[in-house]
Amino acid sequence: MNAFQWTDATSVKQATGQQTTPVADAMLVNAKPESATIFKAGGVDVLDLMKEHVLAPGRIVGIGNLPKLNAIRADGKEGTHLGALVTIAQLEHDGGLQKSYRALTEAASHAATPQVRNAATLGGNIMQRPHCWYFRNENFKCLKKGGTVCFANQAGAENKYHAIMGNQTCSAVHGSSISTALVAFGAQLELTGPQGVRRVPLEQFFVTPEKDVQRENSIQPNELITDVLLPAPAAGTGSWYIKFGERESYDWALADVAVVLEQRDGRCTKASIVLGAAAPVPLRATAAEAALLGKPITEETARAAGQAATAGATPLEQNAYKVPIFAAIVKRAILKAREA
Ligand SMILES: Cc1cc2nc3c(=O)[nH]c(=O)nc-3n(C[C@H](O)[C@H](O)[C@H](O)COP(=O)(O)OP(=O)(O)OC[C@H]3O[C@@H](n4cnc5c(N)ncnc54)[C@H](O)[C@@H]3O)c2cc1C
Repeated sequence: MNAFQWTDATSVKQATGQQTTPVADAMLVNAKPESATIFKAGGVDVLDLMKEHVLAPGRIVGIGNLPKLNAIRADGKEGTHLGALVTIAQLEHDGGLQKSYRALTEAASHAATPQVRNAATLGGNIMQRPHCWYFRNENFKCLKKGGTVCFANQAGAENKYHAIMGNQTCSAVHGSSISTALVAFGAQLELTGPQGVRRVPLEQFFVTPEKDVQRENSIQPNELITDVLLPAPAAGTGSWYIKFGERESYDWALADVAVVLEQRDGRCTKASIVLGAAAPVPLRATAAEAALLGKPITEETARAAGQAATAGATPLEQNAYKVPIFAAIVKRAILKAREA
């Protein structure tokens, strides 16, 4: 790991006045990465990237002690505010979230390990970089690092963990299983920078490789995620989340899904179904949502939605196995959300 300077920020204003660089920019070889200043919250991903020798910032601004960003606050009108420094463990154990946003607490309880969940923050989780092994290996200068090739998309590549949809340019999937649930609930991000505060729906914050292969989101230099707003759920809303992985703990998802359903008079009036580890961004399964609308939620309609969720998938050499897994977990999550 390289030597770096350290600043512990004591206010959001001080932190956002530090001329920071999004990690995506700091990693680009032609951007003089050693002169970049980056934010560190829990440090789980920042330190991994530094130990992997793919990130070598000259200066790190610690934001872990910023005041007021580590609270979960229910606001009757708007919904529930999650500070950016709330840990994954806080999300997992919060009683109010368990009652109203069950898919989120399920996602939190299945992420990583108890140790990681205690250190990892919500803002850092959303901002984590992909875990594609070509991207994380210093010897492969892939498209994300300013190279000319997606190594995972080449013939004979190791791509069993990669995307089965939206994978034409780069097939690294997004690692945030928390975002799978947040997008399903229609979460909004509050971003604070020197120019002020802006709000962005999380779904629109993520950027596809076709738009910009070198980054996963639209964060700007000097900008911090300060808050995540979960809209208040309508009466009759149920939700569920399922993660499918090789191991129960210490692992990212091979496939995960979050489902949020509204029902009236025995019929589905609104459905939000989001697939994680299917594409480079958390992906709304709009065909699956349409398959449920106006219908009673039964084994049959849930199965049809599961099939619709993966229609048009373009699996790579080693990951066609993900297609039936998504069909199965979408169906199961719909049936669980119906009861939740
Ligand atoms: C073994 C293991 C298994 C894991 N499994 C899962 C899993 O199943 N699901 C899952 O979702 N995650 C998983 N993770 C990832 C883990 O949850 C993330 O690495 C962690 O949440 C990052 O949070 P952090 O606070 O440590 O971020 P940091 O490492 O401090 O920062 C990560 C990035 O976010 C930026 N950043 C941090 N906070 C902010 C902010 N407020 N505003 C703007 N930028 C910010 C940093 O500059 C950096 O780019 C796993 C990690 C490990 C090690």
